[in-house]
Amino acid sequence: MKESIQDSIQSTINELYQKYLPCLEGYTANYIPELAHADPHEFAIAIAMVDGSVFHIGSELKNFTLQSVSKPFVYGLALEAFGRPYMLSKVGVEPTGDAFNSIIELEKQSHRPYNPMINSGAIAVSSMIKGKNTAERLDPILKLFENYVGHSVNIDDNVFQSEKKTAHRNRAIANLLKHFQIIDGDIEESLDLYFKQCSLLVNTLDLSFLAATLANGGIQPKTKKKVLNPESARDMLSLMFSCGMYDSAGEWAYSVGLPAKSGVSGGLIAVVPGKMGIAVYSPLIDERGHSVRGVKVLKELAHRYDLSVFSNSH
Ligand code: GLU
Repeated sequence: MKESIQDSIQSTINELYQKYLPCLEGYTANYIPELAHADPHEFAIAIAMVDGSVFHIGSELKNFTLQSVSKPFVYGLALEAFGRPYMLSKVGVEPTGDAFNSIIELEKQSHRPYNPMINSGAIAVSSMIKGKNTAERLDPILKLFENYVGHSVNIDDNVFQSEKKTAHRNRAIANLLKHFQIIDGDIEESLDLYFKQCSLLVNTLDLSFLAATLANGGIQPKTKKKVLNPESARDMLSLMFSCGMYDSAGEWAYSVGLPAKSGVSGGLIAVVPGKMGIAVYSPLIDERGHSVRGVKVLKELAHRYDLSVFSNSH
């Protein structure tokens, strides 16, 4: 039976928090050395409803870096600036079934990255945000996230430097993209921009508002500010649904049924269109780069409240 969400959500997340707090499965991302230092005991769940109310438990104010959760949002920024035909000429919208950092993820004929949720697509999207230098190019990205979360945001310079120093794989991808003329300009500058968007500091409450703004058709539920057009929010959700969970997108669609995006620092968002944004933070990730506790919590919430977008009960 479907429970009424507002009445029971706080006690449900309290229960799920206690249930999964002892779960120490997974590992902290170590290919970015700075992320390996995260405290495995950190755990937070936050849910923002489209009416602006929030429910949370755990270390919901603890900051961490956004990583790949940034990808759909920067895609939305570029989509609004350049429109669908241009975006489609540079980056596809097909799931790959490959890992987030695969280097064989360019389409055979067009050489476009398959989609903007994998690294090749996201690097191509970041490279579209132009300006005289990295600082000028970063500015609209910072403003964008400030609008989503409702306050100013900063970059974690240690994480940025750490990723920049060790990003041999992403550098290879960017060189391939330049070779096929998917990106132009200075490769290092575009990579810097991408690493900086990944190094943006947020907390779990912020994540819930990123998700809830999409659930609310582009209007930030608390500030009531219009952050983006409903059509762009819809397109981002489609991409999150088909590609947001990388090589487990199909299993996720089957078991959770919600558009979602994970990041290797342990953030995970899921969107219940028209209703709420759900966020979980726990830095222990699985081999696919998804927060282990995050996946467990989302599966249980989706099952308990029948949240799948394909359910006929809402
Ligand atoms: N900055 C990370 C990378 O490009 C993001 C990966 C992720 O969060 O999935 O490797």
